[in-house]
Amino acid sequence: MDDKLLFTKILSITLPWFIKKVLVDEKEQRIDIFVDHEPGIRVRCPTCNQFYGMYDHAPERVYRHLDMCQMQTYIHVRPPRVNCPKHGVMHIDPQFGENGSEMTFAFESQVIRVALECSMEATARLCRISWDRSWGALTRAVDRGLKRKPHQVPTRIGVDEKSIARGHKYETLVYNLHTGTVDYVGDDRGRESLERYYRQFTRDELEKVEAVAMDMWDPYIAATKAHVPDAGKKIVFDRFHVMKQVLDAVDKVRKSEHRQLTELGTETLKGTRYLWLWSQENIPDWRKEEFESLRAKNLRTGRAWSIKENIRHLWTIVKEEDMRAYFKRWYFWATHSRLEPIKKSARTLKAHIDNIVTYAQHRITNALAEGINTKIEKIKRMACGFRNRAHYRTAIYFHCGGLDLFPKPSALPALAFKTR
Ligand SMILES: [Zn+2]
Repeated sequence: MDDKLLFTKILSITLPWFIKKVLVDEKEQRIDIFVDHEPGIRVRCPTCNQFYGMYDHAPERVYRHLDMCQMQTYIHVRPPRVNCPKHGVMHIDPQFGENGSEMTFAFESQVIRVALECSMEATARLCRISWDRSWGALTRAVDRGLKRKPHQVPTRIGVDEKSIARGHKYETLVYNLHTGTVDYVGDDRGRESLERYYRQFTRDELEKVEAVAMDMWDPYIAATKAHVPDAGKKIVFDRFHVMKQVLDAVDKVRKSEHRQLTELGTETLKGTRYLWLWSQENIPDWRKEEFESLRAKNLRTGRAWSIKENIRHLWTIVKEEDMRAYFKRWYFWATHSRLEPIKKSARTLKAHIDNIVTYAQHRITNALAEGINTKIEKIKRMACGFRNRAHYRTAIYFHCGGLDLFPKPSALPALAFKTR
């Protein structure tokens, strides 16, 4: 078998395409394969799929292909252009790799597979391409994925803010809570940012939204109420965000009590911060005794802790009216605790209670998107390569968007022999 025939078989090249020449450069460890086509062909117009006469050739394209053994492999081709009476002079559907990609479909898919597992730097090293080339493959993958993604609003969504890098910059993330994927990434965490997401959909489409998990954050509430019909019954304040208000209050009580005790010369509360913040069942065995003796001391922090532990029960209640009744009793207790931070947190919860108890019906939290958080932390750790916010956003869509990322050649042939 000669080398041209071998490569024709390996690369599945079919007539009217054929391999004209193969150059093997042992010194450079590189193989160049030149593909041409037979004369007397007709060319398919990519718009109407009819075959017409060839117009001319586009300039030569060079595609990087998967390495053959240890050698880098390149495919050279001059794609013919078609002269369609309806659509004019057109480039053909890409046969070897996408237009503007400089990679064959197979090589580009390989870069994407590696990038899904590694940082950009590692991808570039492993694929033996530049950072810019591997980033280009990732960007094209996201563009492709977003284009292929069906236009549909998820029925259960989560809205979350994520801080990026330093400098208190935020992004608004919208999750699809069914698939656990990121549906949208928007700049900053203002009302407009979330409105841009909703504006992609009509009111009829947004009517299908059943529930929205979010923080008690006014801009998100306002945006959702402005766009989602019946939002009042659909917004569910994220239980972990609600708990955070109470946890912060417990921490404030501890801090001020610790300060006072220290002034009096006792360091009872030193090193106890997490004992009060952990849920009771999560206190490690080796600290249980210490914690019990602290609780016996009748501290203000101990009272704040009891109030915090009690509100956790709220989310185990099945019926909305029972949740309301439970909250009412808890609220009375909290607001009579003479612990200012606790009173303040109780008032915050009360102001938002209508959309805390919607949990009874929808039972959603943004923790359903927990896998996403892990991935985003990973993206942030690898973020040294991300030169700006747009890059960070692209990386989130790439890793968390659940998109169909891979390039595919057209199912129809681009060339046909002229029939006589
Ligand atoms: Zn046409």
